Amino acid sequence: MINIPETDKKRIVIVGCGFAGLTLARKLKNSGYQVVIIDKHNYHQFPPLFYQVASAGLEASSILFPLRKIFQNYKDFHIRKAEVIAVDSANNKLATSAGDLKYDYLVLAHGATNAYFGSVKMQQYSKGMKSIAEVLDLRNSLLMNFENSLVAGDETERDMLLNIVIIGGGPSGVEIAGALAEMNRYIIPKDYPELKNIRAKIYLIEAADRVLNMMSQKSSEKAREFLEKSGVSVLTDTKASGCDETSVFFDSGMKISTGLIIWTAGIKANFINGLNPDCFGRAGRLVVDQCSRVKGYENIFALGDISLMAEEKYPNGHPQVAQVAIQQAKLLSANLKRLLANKTTIEFRYRDLGTMATIGRNLAVVELPFIKFHGLFGWYVWMFIHLMSIVGVKNKLVIFLNWAWKYFTYDQSTRLILRPKEK
Ligand SMILES: Cc1cc2nc3c(=O)[nH]c(=O)nc-3n(C[C@H](O)[C@H](O)[C@H](O)COP(=O)(O)OP(=O)(O)OC[C@H]3O[C@@H](n4cnc5c(N)ncnc54)[C@H](O)[C@@H]3O)c2cc1C
Repeated sequence: MINIPETDKKRIVIVGCGFAGLTLARKLKNSGYQVVIIDKHNYHQFPPLFYQVASAGLEASSILFPLRKIFQNYKDFHIRKAEVIAVDSANNKLATSAGDLKYDYLVLAHGATNAYFGSVKMQQYSKGMKSIAEVLDLRNSLLMNFENSLVAGDETERDMLLNIVIIGGGPSGVEIAGALAEMNRYIIPKDYPELKNIRAKIYLIEAADRVLNMMSQKSSEKAREFLEKSGVSVLTDTKASGCDETSVFFDSGMKISTGLIIWTAGIKANFINGLNPDCFGRAGRLVVDQCSRVKGYENIFALGDISLMAEEKYPNGHPQVAQVAIQQAKLLSANLKRLLANKTTIEFRYRDLGTMATIGRNLAVVELPFIKFHGLFGWYVWMFIHLMSIVGVKNKLVIFLNWAWKYFTYDQSTRLILRPKEK
């Protein structure tokens, strides 16, 4: 059993301290509950800027924030670094890698991971961008490929190492493509003068007929135009059918040799054992009601990417974005306080605050509820919103200085290949 002081208060166990878990926990300060946070990491992470870490634009530490620091002054809050394994709902007990834990209310907010749609090879050979560990692995491979290209046996091997294939033309795919194109243009020729006339080729692959297909046609076209101007080959209506260590294959019969496959095409909820099979919906998401209660359970809730809440405008669930996680968490905190006061709960309505993606220096597409715009102003708006959303004043400052430095010098953060010691 995990050792947590017993009190008279009811205990809320929150699994995952991402956007949803962190918002909920903060809102439960002085709520009259005991709060226990379970996370497999000891930090909160900011996935919207993962692509900048992957492309060596930012150091990982500037988009991470230690959980213990956030909750230093919270009374009766307990953090345990552990991986969740299963729920035993009959006994109100959670099994984790650090032991079992009793709960009065359980909130599952441990997010989502890559879905490979059954392709074992894609899982094996591609690099994902769903966690900071994956992103650092991607960055190391990217930098290693540039190093290895200088000692390649022949031109075929060198070109293979310099080809980058990004699969998935959603915001993550578009943003990493834009960042890599910028790196290719401004950094690589300076760091690797021998490669001056041999540019890396960046391919962005999308199965649908346009990139950013959750945005308007105009924003998609603008994004494509910006990417192509930056030197990215955008292939829409193109479906990857498989891969091996050095190539990606396509339904059309085409093949691209590559040393780096970046996978941003699929997402599925992180799995947890012990729940009824009928509470799992599309992509493993947990079906919840309008108060985030998991189907069939009174005292188990799910928030954010792991949850599937249908609303009239979103019959298949909300988009898996930060605002959904944050808004659901805010409402759940209010509802948990109402439960303590024997009041009825309030139902969720999603307020869409807009979508945006950046494609590199001075370029972004932005769709707010009443206005759509792109280009330089969009880029400023994108930077402002992301900077304001980062946890920690120091992180905000470091990122701002990094961006300013990069803007004026056309240089970026240190490009170090750092790997843990192999045993
Ligand atoms: C590359 C990338 C770019 C993105 N860009 C944007 C963007 O620009 N705008 C936007 O709105 N959204 C963006 N998103 C989506 C957004 O990050 C998610 O919707 C949001 O993080 C969901 O919040 P969450 O709290 O549900 O999960 P998360 O923020 O993913 O948090 C999950 C937490 O659970 C923990 N955890 C996971 N598994 C376990 C386990 N087994 N045991 C214990 N703890 C566990 C993790 O450590 C993490 O702290 C992006 C996502 C990615 C991957």
